[in-house]
Amino acid sequence: MRDKLFINGEWHLPLKGGRFPVVNPATEEIIADAPAGTAEDINTAVRAARVAFDHGPWPKLSGRERAGYLRAMAARIEERTQDLARLEVLDNGKPLPEAVWDIEDTAGCFRFYADLAEELDANPEEVIPLGDDRFSSRVVREPVGVAGAIIPWNYPLLMAAWKVAPALAAGCTMVLKPSELTPLTALELGAIAEDAGLPAGVLNIVTGLGPDAGQPLSEHPGIDKLAFTGSVPTGSRIMAAAARDIKNVSLELGGKSPFVVFADSDIDKAVEWIMFGIFWNQGEVCSATSRVLVEESLYPALLTRLVEETKKISIGNGLDDGTLLGPLVSKGQYDKIHAMIERGVSGGARIATGGKRPEGLQKGYFLEPTILTDMSEDNIVWREEIFGPVVCVKPFRDETDAIRMANDSRFGLAAAVMSDDLDRCERVARAFKAGIVWINCSQPTFTEAPWGGYKQSGIGRELGKWGLSNYLEVKQITAFDKNETWGWYLK
Ligand code: NAD
Repeated sequence: MRDKLFINGEWHLPLKGGRFPVVNPATEEIIADAPAGTAEDINTAVRAARVAFDHGPWPKLSGRERAGYLRAMAARIEERTQDLARLEVLDNGKPLPEAVWDIEDTAGCFRFYADLAEELDANPEEVIPLGDDRFSSRVVREPVGVAGAIIPWNYPLLMAAWKVAPALAAGCTMVLKPSELTPLTALELGAIAEDAGLPAGVLNIVTGLGPDAGQPLSEHPGIDKLAFTGSVPTGSRIMAAAARDIKNVSLELGGKSPFVVFADSDIDKAVEWIMFGIFWNQGEVCSATSRVLVEESLYPALLTRLVEETKKISIGNGLDDGTLLGPLVSKGQYDKIHAMIERGVSGGARIATGGKRPEGLQKGYFLEPTILTDMSEDNIVWREEIFGPVVCVKPFRDETDAIRMANDSRFGLAAAVMSDDLDRCERVARAFKAGIVWINCSQPTFTEAPWGGYKQSGIGRELGKWGLSNYLEVKQITAFDKNETWGWYLK
């Protein structure tokens, strides 16, 4: 495992020499001592990224040339799928097949943005028709500059790819600060960039704690753009830090996403997607459909079936064959989620299943998949993000009631609806106040489609062409006919 920071194409010990322990959440063992970058390392990394942007070749390369580097990185990631996936399991706890899926998506993300980098060459400018034909106006897009990326721990390498790939495709240079809970694969990304021959300073990776490394990155005057994924309180701090220098900022934050199931739904399909929506990745998914609303007449049968199937989920070390639910990422998350469940129950929620450590798993941050019912709409578990395998299920009366309940949240990341009646699905989809809406499914995520939320779930969109736009400035170039005069002062 790598024990140095990746700055300016080289591996450096942190300037203050600090380290922090990386814990395997399935065994509670320390598996690595990661380098603890601080403001000094961030400063060195930002300077390297600044020089690479202001004086280096990167922003001036053609899109096709940058695509070549991105594809080389994708190929290397793909070759290393198994070892990167294993590292992700040791670091985060998720089941190995899910981690393999993440790494495949990571390679796919680099390939997708390689294609978009080439499209920038194919469409270098857009002509803007004006009402006065003495003028001609065009729009060109240019890289924003040096980007700072701060990411969470739930999809460690994939969340890095969602920022690194579009930023590099656009011609930006970057300093990446991964989560201190899962720093290992991000450091491998440095080795992958090195193998791909990425010019020095284009991608810099500084591991470290949020206040020690993340905060100085968000406050650094050498950063032009900040891209953050994480919790609402940290997002708010990042936005305040960005405000001082009016930095371009994009935020992907939390959610409390609803899944509305109408009575004409097939129970098997509903149960499958409800479970996928909340137990995949231990429910540590920003878009997890953690509030399930079921039409009254279907509620008793659906709840019974959901509880039955949930009890069958095999819980264990993510490296063991057949594991469908791994441990929570850390002791901190384990304690936080238990406390939330307790508060929910003391506020009137009932545990239909789960809510405790699984029998036979005395080590590791394991929690049984949990279903809560009978809570009021002001119960903390109904309102606040839990970020674990805990779903709240409530009945609703009719479509109007369902839409009201679904939208009654300060979040607006995702929402899902299930019904045999596709006209109704479409109506409800349009009524949701959320950036991502699924019909008859929950969670499938495509690199091509925009990702991001309404309300306190964030600002801006990642993925697709929207993800690339995050890292591009828009410049209009307007020219006047050289043989004409404006004639305002000089009549
Ligand atoms: P977090 O906010 O605690 O940490 C996120 C990152 O911010 C980490 O790298 C951390 O080190 C850094 N950080 C912490 N304090 C900082 C500070 N003062 N200044 C700068 N950086 C700082 O979030 P988390 O616990 O890692 O992630 C869970 C949250 O992320 C959940 O709320 C989840 O919904 C959200 N999330 C959202 C998406 C999305 O796409 N919308 C995706 C994944 C996770």
